[in-house]
Amino acid sequence: MKIHEYQGKEILRKFGVTVPRGIPCDTVEDAVKAAEKLGGPVWVVKAQIHAGGRGKGGGVKVAKSLDQVKAYASEILGMQLVTHQTGPNGQQVRHLLIEEGADIKKELYVSMVTDRVSQRVVLMASSEGGMDIEEVAESHPELIHQIAIDPAVGLTDAEADSIAARIGVPEASIADARAQLQGLYEAYWETDASLAEINPLILTGDGRVIALDAKFNFDANALYRHPEIVAFRDLDEEDPAEVEASKFDLAYISLDGNIGCLVNGAGLAMATMDTIKLFGGEPANFLDVGGGATAEKVTEAFKIMLKNPGLKAILVNIFGGIMKCDVIAEGVIVASKAVSLNVPLVVRMKGTNEDLGKKMLAESGLPIIAADTMEDAARSVVAAAAGK
Ligand code: ADP
Ligand code: MG
Repeated sequence: MKIHEYQGKEILRKFGVTVPRGIPCDTVEDAVKAAEKLGGPVWVVKAQIHAGGRGKGGGVKVAKSLDQVKAYASEILGMQLVTHQTGPNGQQVRHLLIEEGADIKKELYVSMVTDRVSQRVVLMASSEGGMDIEEVAESHPELIHQIAIDPAVGLTDAEADSIAARIGVPEASIADARAQLQGLYEAYWETDASLAEINPLILTGDGRVIALDAKFNFDANALYRHPEIVAFRDLDEEDPAEVEASKFDLAYISLDGNIGCLVNGAGLAMATMDTIKLFGGEPANFLDVGGGATAEKVTEAFKIMLKNPGLKAILVNIFGGIMKCDVIAEGVIVASKAVSLNVPLVVRMKGTNEDLGKKMLAESGLPIIAADTMEDAARSVVAAAAGK
């Protein structure tokens, strides 16, 4: 789960990381009031969307008067902000953060991620902050420094100091940088984050270290123990199909292709998408209906897939283990009738009560294309999506 920058900064502040004073707001009027309250002479008007690269896209503006705050707030609120992370359609700006302007001497990069290989939280840092870190990693990998943190002791003073020195923090600011890095680690650890990134972390003219941006992702499997983070959720920023699917406990992810996939089990769902691609097709979604795929769940899954105007065909690929094939067949039949299916439907089922399930589909009178193997199923659905 992602959150906005202003929410990320609330978390950082709570864990002792220094962030600029700022006030979130949703109207131009409140933006000006916020600026008055903060006091001048320099403010930054920042679009709040769940994507980075806002600065380059025109979503972060420095204002030197209240009139400028008003002008930038009017310009940014409601705009369709396009960044390298939003896709070509961009994301509508519904919230702003008005912040005091910081005196930037140097922009640094720091982040925490979980490294599954070492099974540790890794601190990454670079002297090259402010820009795309992917680009730095590509062209100057030697400028990215890493430390895998021992969970038993946390980020030690020595580790924090060494990283700070390596990214060019001057001697006099090392203690300040250490406090920021250890605060970031605490924030990451205590909230069950999967990513916490400060880009840029800045050195100010008077030698202070401040977090100017904040990006967090959280492990969805741990959200049950963080109601305060769930409260940060902003459904406007999420894919409507994914939000709808989550209401029915369906693991659904929208993709760019035109072949809808309905599969039980995440592994089989991945293999199904791979097979579709192998035969030249493009999946429209990842969907794991889970072990208890009831007729109701299958119906909702069909409805969600059919809302996609680009959908050209659907592949149902089911392994009947605990879930029997005849139950799935029943679900597919009820669902196809309920949603008045208007694209070709390919069904492959294997496992418990397979023969009964296939017989029910054949006798349903529905124009279902039956397939026996993964290859058959993928070839059929790719052909059907191409109108063959
Ligand atoms: P994004 O990463 O989405 O582009 P940032 O919050 O990193 O957004 O802002 C982009 C740039 O704007 C920063 O690298 C920094 O140079 C400048 N900036 C952001 N916030 C402030 C601030 N409070 N004071 C001064 N400059 C800022
Ligand atoms: Mg940034």
